[in-house]
Order: sequence, then C-alpha cells, then structure tokens
Amino acid sequence: MYHYVRPFNPKYPNFKNLHIDDFRKQLDYFQDEYGFCCKEEFLNSFKTGKPADGVILTFDDGLFCHYEYVYKELKKRDLSGIFYIPTQPYVDSKILDVHRTHLLLGKYESKTVFEFLDKRIDDSLFDQSKLKEFRVLTYKTQENDQYTLLVKRILNYFISYEHREKVMNYLMEEFIPNEKEILESYYLTEDQILEMHENNMIIGSHTINHPVMSRLNFEEQSIQVKNSFDFLESIIGKFHHKTFCYPYGGFHSFTDETEKILSKENCLYSFNVEQRDIENIDLQSRPQALPRYDCNQFPFGQVRELSPTHNIANWG
Ligand SMILES: [Zn+2]
Repeated sequence: MYHYVRPFNPKYPNFKNLHIDDFRKQLDYFQDEYGFCCKEEFLNSFKTGKPADGVILTFDDGLFCHYEYVYKELKKRDLSGIFYIPTQPYVDSKILDVHRTHLLLGKYESKTVFEFLDKRIDDSLFDQSKLKEFRVLTYKTQENDQYTLLVKRILNYFISYEHREKVMNYLMEEFIPNEKEILESYYLTEDQILEMHENNMIIGSHTINHPVMSRLNFEEQSIQVKNSFDFLESIIGKFHHKTFCYPYGGFHSFTDETEKILSKENCLYSFNVEQRDIENIDLQSRPQALPRYDCNQFPFGQVRELSPTHNIANWG
C-alpha cells in the first residue's frame, strides 16, 4: 500500500511522502526478493482460490503523483498497479478533508495546528457514539507525535461530519490560503485515469469523499459505494471487475454491512490494512477484507528527513 510518492517540497517540510527515488529502490528490492505477480495471475487467484506468487502494488487516494511518478515508472518496468480513487474532487473541485489535514500538518508544526484547532472546538462537536472505540483503535501503527495524533484523531474520527467541513475551512483559511492553486495538481485528472486504465492499470473505488465507513449508516454507505463506482465507470467505461479499498483501513473502519454492500455491488475484492500475506482462506471466504502491508514495512519504504540534496519539486 502506497499513498504519496513524489519528490520533497521544501514548503511542506513535515509532509509525509515516500521519495520517488526510494520508491524505485523498493521496486528493485521487491523484484529481487519476491518478484511481482502480473495482473492476470492476480485476477486468476480469485477463480482458483489460491494466492498468486509475488507482490501486487496498490496506490490510494487518486493523487496526481500516481500519474506523474508512479504510473510512468510502472510502465517502464511493464508492471501493473491498482489505483483507488475517491470521486468527490471531480464533482466539487475541492481538496478532501483527509488531504487538507495532510497539507496542514505538512506545512506547520503539529502543535501549532492543534492549538488553533483546540480553540475552535469543544466536545459538543464530537460524534459521541464511537469516541471510545476510535480512541483505542486508531493510528496504532503509524509513527506520529502526540499533537499529530490528536489533530488526526479529532479531524478524521472524533468531530461529527456535520461540523467537520466548517472547522476545516477555518483551518485552511488561516494556514493554507492558496488551496485552489494546490488543487490544480493534487489529484489525477479524468484523462489520466482513462490513460492508466487503458495501459494495464486497475482502477478501483475509494468511496466518494473518504469517510470512515463504520461511521455511516447502511444507506449512506451504499451511496458511497454505488455512486463512486458509477462515477468511475463514466470515465473508464464498463468495469472489467470492480474493486474497492476502505478509507483509513483497519477492522474498525468498516462493518459487516460494508462488506455485504460491496458483495451485492459485484465487487470482486476489497483491500483492508492488515499487515500479512493474502492466504487461501481470504480469497475463498472473505475477499472483501484482503490484508495488505504498508510500504513502510519493507526496506526503502520509510519517509526520509528532508535534505537539500534530495531532488525536490514545487507542488503547492
Ligand atoms: Zn485513502
């Protein structure tokens, strides 16, 4: 599982992105150590019920760097990848709240963001029903400092969706006033998605606007799944097969209902985050919760400290 793969940007010194050079080194490492499994072998494993040998690569969030750096590199190596895309940015031309949080914490010290946020919120804005569960279960495996953890938990899990956008708008106006300009090169364009689809890449849904699915009711979850698939079909044409991946991931981030909705929508498989290999039993009895590793679990997959000698780029 990958997210941002791109050069560093000195304007966002704390931004957590895998450097493109490290991505290339990691691909070499996977090739030598495990080999890659091609698209056909991977898809065939759902027919045979036996996992294919080798690595399959997934990229979440429909980011511009997935075309600019990832797709170009995969094409050179004749590899395939699965790209999970949230569809809301194509409809309302806004950066998703989950990514606004990355920008805020990438540009400023987490303590600064937290203190600003803390002054503008109180417990009445929180979604009380799952507060305890999420306090224990979220961000267990990421290495975050305490303020980053607080900011992410508050914005992604605690604050009710009804109030979140307003709070995010305050934060963005204060800290990142050039949001519109950043948006222009933040996500894949529809043309890029189509080109990738036509060149051996698999396109899948990552919902409409990246909610924690377990925070939504059945009806809301169904809309997230169905509408996002429909929208992607309007770009790439009829799906060869449907695939989905859960925003945030982890068993706390979706429910039995989510899996049922996906199966009903004829989704062939969905990815969760659970750090282990895919086994026979996953393919045969729970294809809507396939495990996958974060790239940071393998050599070259960790975020490096920013250094002036690294090649850098100007996004934002
Ligand atoms: Zn995501």
